[in-house]
Amino acid sequence: MEIALQAISKAYDGVDRPAVSKVSASIASGEFFFLLGPSGCGKTTLLRLVAGLIRPTSGGIAFDGEDVTELPVDQRGTALVFQGYALWPHMTVLENVEFGPRMSGASRDARRRVAMEQLERVQMAEFAQRKPNQLSGGQQQRVALARALAAGTRCLLFDEPLSNLDARLRLHMRDELKTLVKETGVTAIYVTHDQKEALSMADRVAVMNDGEIVQLGTPEEVYSQPATRFVADFLGEANFLGGAVAASGDAVRVTTTAGEIMVSSRTAPDVGSKVQCCVRPEHVRIRAADEGPDPSLENALEATIVSSVYLGDVRQYVCRLGDGADGEWRVAELSQNAHRFEPGQPVLATFAASSVAVLRT
Ligand code: ADP
Ligand code: MG
Repeated sequence: MEIALQAISKAYDGVDRPAVSKVSASIASGEFFFLLGPSGCGKTTLLRLVAGLIRPTSGGIAFDGEDVTELPVDQRGTALVFQGYALWPHMTVLENVEFGPRMSGASRDARRRVAMEQLERVQMAEFAQRKPNQLSGGQQQRVALARALAAGTRCLLFDEPLSNLDARLRLHMRDELKTLVKETGVTAIYVTHDQKEALSMADRVAVMNDGEIVQLGTPEEVYSQPATRFVADFLGEANFLGGAVAASGDAVRVTTTAGEIMVSSRTAPDVGSKVQCCVRPEHVRIRAADEGPDPSLENALEATIVSSVYLGDVRQYVCRLGDGADGEWRVAELSQNAHRFEPGQPVLATFAASSVAVLRT
């Protein structure tokens, strides 16, 4: 099922500032779509609007082109999959999954057939006679999905489903849940404030701030080409350098006080406009100053090493750009291939034109 959010807004009673403000997006059928942003940015509100648990103040929602804005929650075919999966402990797996079809009056044979079909879809048919407490967390999650699908769910909604799990289990469940959702082929929306969760699981991510979607794209796009400083910072560590656009078009050049930067940008900013260039720490390679620039990387800024910390997998450097007025950059090099630079050493911070994002300021 395809979902269209059409300039949807929600202001809670007695609160001036809308929790969700004119959000538009279209979610493709079968897509695993993520809403990512800090606490309070409106993710849960947007999910509840899609579910039909609350009504928008303005704007609308369409499912497969049909306006569902006024459709009550029980007629939308959406299911919020909560943290504890909420299986009934006294019922078997099969009875849990049969519950939806039973409520809608399906005959005994029909509901058994639907339930077994969905249990097979999530590879849990052989556990049909077990009780939920005889299953692992991952298996319970599968049954919960089978139950939602048997009840006619056309869209799965997840609100931070892994946030109560310990770190190791959370990592494992990420993979498991992603595989499972993609196997069902059902459209799914997943809310999280955890950028790693979003980047590792999503087909596309909508990054939210203050009730708005500030950027929408694939994990690679939002991480390596953030549109704003907020997105750059929220998704990971980022280095910045301000400058002015000296040439635009296919090859963008930005003049900064630390030197000129070449950018292979998909958007061509106006010549003369002030911009921020953003480069991720792992996209920078340090070279000794006397080695000269790396011919395979378009950019080389003069810098001085401030500190060097060994972290096992990576070595992390802080270096001061230019004469020091341009701030400090963090650089992460895989420790196995990094040869070691010492504080005070003059170096070149080198990076590809394709690894620079030009941010709106
Ligand atoms: P998130 O899920 O991203 O943490 P929420 O959608 O829960 O954000 O909340 C967005 C904003 O709306 C917050 O400022 C929150 O305090 C406010 N809010 C959420 N629910 C209600 C409510 N029932 N009444 C009034 N304000 C609310
Ligand atoms: Mg929330």
